[in-house]
Amino acid sequence: MPSGLLVAIAGLVGLAIGSFLNVVIYRVPRDESISFPPSHCTVCGHLLSAGDNVPVISWLVLRGRCRYCGDPISSRYPLVELMTAALFVVSVLRFGASLQTLAAAVLSAYLIVTVFVDIDHLLILDVVTVPVAIAALIIALVQGQALPALAGAATGAALFGLLYIVTRGTGLGLGDVKLAACLGLFIGWPNTLAMSAASVVIGAIIAVPLLVARKRRGRDVVPFGPFLVLGALIMTFAPALVLGPYQAYQEFLFRRASGL
Ligand SMILES: [Zn+2]
Repeated sequence: MPSGLLVAIAGLVGLAIGSFLNVVIYRVPRDESISFPPSHCTVCGHLLSAGDNVPVISWLVLRGRCRYCGDPISSRYPLVELMTAALFVVSVLRFGASLQTLAAAVLSAYLIVTVFVDIDHLLILDVVTVPVAIAALIIALVQGQALPALAGAATGAALFGLLYIVTRGTGLGLGDVKLAACLGLFIGWPNTLAMSAASVVIGAIIAVPLLVARKRRGRDVVPFGPFLVLGALIMTFAPALVLGPYQAYQEFLFRRASGL
């Protein structure tokens, strides 16, 4: 069990990183620099002071409005900060002070950026995926897990590449194929198989009713990235959710085969 101090540090670092992820989510898909200009209100353009920029607290103190023009600030900003902090805390609770925690934290940050950018723009960005994939590979190398990581990446790329070809690019995009490969680096072989299966099942349960409803309104695209992200989160933090039923099924088959 990690110490309370370690958990508190993980939470605070998560809030700060979450604040940075907000900048990435907003600016990178718009081809804006992440360092210049400094943080400003996207409505009135007024530069934000340090006091306006404290994760979660500033949003609460300002009651979700810009101090200068009074325009509403999306509740997504504190939400992203809280989600990042929560995932960092869960990483430390699950893996303690280890390289695995670093991997889980990098993965968590990547997942948060991917979900929101995909929801906003139906895009999975190479400029984010490539550096994260390199980081995942380096961590795997240091852990002596390069082979399972590469096998996971190949599995993700092959499965979703096939899905991309079969659906002729209408079901998911090439970005999803790269995302699956990158997640495979983190999740490794053979868990990437379970992650892929989980994401397709979750996708079918959530996306099909959405698509049916949207088709009536003339919009027929649902981003697939968030489902892959859910699959990756489950396989990182609670693999028993997916593997448990599978093992129970195997035992059931085994009992039937042996006539018990
Ligand atoms: Zn403003």
